[in-house]
Amino acid sequence: MSQQPIYYFDNNATTRIAPEVVDAMLPFLSEFWGNPSSVYGFGKQLAKPLEAARDKVASLINADPCEIIFTSGGTESINSAIHTALATQPQKRHLLTTAVEHSANIKFCAHLKKMGFEVTLLPVESDGALDLQLLEKSIRPDTAIVSVMWANNETGVLFPIEEIAAICRSKHVLFHTDAVQIPAKLKIDVKHLGADFLSLSAHKLHAAKGVGLLYVKRRVKYQPYVIGGGQEQGRRGGTENVAGIVGFGRAAELATAHLKNGNIRIRALRDQLETGILKSIDGVAVNGARDARLPNTSNLSFEGVEAEGILLLLDEQGICASSGSACTSGSLDPSHVLMAMGCSLARARGSIRFSLGIYNTEAEVNFLLKQLPPIIAKLRSHSR
Ligand code: PLP
Repeated sequence: MSQQPIYYFDNNATTRIAPEVVDAMLPFLSEFWGNPSSVYGFGKQLAKPLEAARDKVASLINADPCEIIFTSGGTESINSAIHTALATQPQKRHLLTTAVEHSANIKFCAHLKKMGFEVTLLPVESDGALDLQLLEKSIRPDTAIVSVMWANNETGVLFPIEEIAAICRSKHVLFHTDAVQIPAKLKIDVKHLGADFLSLSAHKLHAAKGVGLLYVKRRVKYQPYVIGGGQEQGRRGGTENVAGIVGFGRAAELATAHLKNGNIRIRALRDQLETGILKSIDGVAVNGARDARLPNTSNLSFEGVEAEGILLLLDEQGICASSGSACTSGSLDPSHVLMAMGCSLARARGSIRFSLGIYNTEAEVNFLLKQLPPIIAKLRSHSR
């Protein structure tokens, strides 16, 4: 394992676990390692911290604790929301989603298509925006669920999720939103939003990997996706990841505080980074709407260079960024998000995502702004 200093600009891929979260988790990895479903006190006592964590994550999104199902992360939550919509409405065989969703959604839908379900992927415009009239028109009597992400993990583009929820309500169709990129960046109020399902992942908000939640609105029918023991009120089988869940609860408390204090600072750093790059390097374009965007994300295309080359040279300086979604990087496939926005193959292949977080500093942004121009110049001179 490398110990060189890192400059981490990939917070949409994962985030550093907050020291407060580690502190909260440790007792449940060392002393209190029992199974909360046990009949004896040593295990049974863990039900209390588990429920306290449920209260905390519920409060982050203004849900009732009984509306929270703990899962293994965003992917499972998204799969579960789509699965339950189909399982509880067997007469409905159509799914409506967008072409720019995370692979947890898009690949699950592709799998369901192979199983005989019908899937409509809504296109997006060149700035990543959705046509809501088209969305409304695409809802069919046999549409089981509409699933639309709140913020795009690659470009940061935000969809008008309240309006989409209202359209779905007026059409009496279930609505799920992948809100994995939202906590600590924007406020989530499920009571106001009116979605039936909402997915979150703990490792995107400074807690551990392998834990997440699915919000299921009260009185919405639910069929479990992971079937086994009777945990989570029979809604998700499997012994609970107690330490992970406790850490998620602590991270939810911290996220509320960061939302109040940190967001303005992160937006200012992101803007400093973006304007700095645009000023110092020619042939750079911002991908996606600039306004309706997460405050921490900047997705930029560098003309005449491949993202892989940039990432390798940044890595030599200890700078972490990504091209497209982290889950698909390592393959040379261009980002499906940028392609859906109508970017050329060359533009998609030359795109880098910088995503900032609470631990980034101005000094780190300045370091990146110093390192990047010679890297781009070097790569461009090689490709001539
Ligand atoms: N949805 C979005 C928008 C994401 O960014 C991610 C993670 O990259 C996921 C879903 C999947 O979450 P997890 O890694 O917890 O399975």
